[in-house]
Amino acid sequence: MRNFKNIIAFSAISIAISCGKTSEEKKNTITEVTKKEPLSIIFMVGDGMGIPQVSSAFYFGEDTPNFKQFESIGLSRTSSTSHLITDSAAGATAFSTGEKTYKRAIGVSSDTIAMPTILEQLKEKGYQTGLVSLTSITHATPAAYYAHVKDRDLHEDIAKQLVDGEVDFFAGGGKKYFKNREDGVNLYDSLMAKNYKLDTLELSKPDNARRNAYLLAEEGLPSKTEGRGDFLAEAAKTGFDYFEANHKPFFMMIEGSYIDWGGHAKDDKMMIQEVLDFDKTIGVVLDFVKAHPNTLLVVTADHETGGVSIGKSYDESGKEIPQQVQVYFNTDQHSTELVPVFAKGKGEELFRGIYENNEIYHKLMQAINEK
Ligand SMILES: [Zn+2]
Repeated sequence: MRNFKNIIAFSAISIAISCGKTSEEKKNTITEVTKKEPLSIIFMVGDGMGIPQVSSAFYFGEDTPNFKQFESIGLSRTSSTSHLITDSAAGATAFSTGEKTYKRAIGVSSDTIAMPTILEQLKEKGYQTGLVSLTSITHATPAAYYAHVKDRDLHEDIAKQLVDGEVDFFAGGGKKYFKNREDGVNLYDSLMAKNYKLDTLELSKPDNARRNAYLLAEEGLPSKTEGRGDFLAEAAKTGFDYFEANHKPFFMMIEGSYIDWGGHAKDDKMMIQEVLDFDKTIGVVLDFVKAHPNTLLVVTADHETGGVSIGKSYDESGKEIPQQVQVYFNTDQHSTELVPVFAKGKGEELFRGIYENNEIYHKLMQAINEK
């Protein structure tokens, strides 16, 4: 982004000179223009990541969690319009459009009308756009940024809308919704016709002159416990390389999808490993934010999953182990606990306090317009 800033400052000088302004006026013009350099946004969603899940990183991880680096922290209330206990579709639609909607809705209002998303709006302003997920890229959380359908299970329609959409860089799973479709259409061809470099094998170096699509699993990628490796952090870095090469501001959503799945499976090892992987990715993103002051990182969750608590651990004879704790699941469903919001970078102070999940969209827009 530094190069981008220089280009703006340089054109400001040229304009000032060509208009024959005094040096004091020139200086003011430069300051004013520099201040308006667009803010890049990185939005990270830990699906199902409530405060207990974040806490697990502090008791089961080996290093100090990257969560500790945040100073601007808030809480969000996640309910949908139809159910107090929401799902990822309504949750992500609240983040992407600024409006709460019903459960299972993707980018549509309570009366199923398509609503513009932050990704679409910023694309119109000249931003680059990116989505990274561990699930199928047509799954609820990423889909809510580019698709508008009445039900989250309409994967084939969602895939079609991705091809016709405004996403410059995406990485995740979901090959089957592009290639083995009921309508027989081969969306691999459609992606390439839309100027995508498509890689279905690995996170290769992005083609900076084109858009980039990485479809790396039939459905979802493996979980961390199944040997996924560092995909999430690597995909984030690959996206940053691409956006940086093109010297334009960007909006990128990165989802740690399987914290939620650990909760549904009541699998504490899976949940903890996914939280630690997400935290590791946060570390990579925080390094980028620190090196690029004109960025804002917001990390939050769509809802908590599992009604998790971290409580006492006992040995076989029923005696408490004082220096050990364990994860308890109260349910295999989502819960309605408030979830944490962590912010770092320009505008981070906007995210302090307690607010509704859809306010996060409005806070991001406020940061973009004011910072
Ligand atoms: Zn879930």
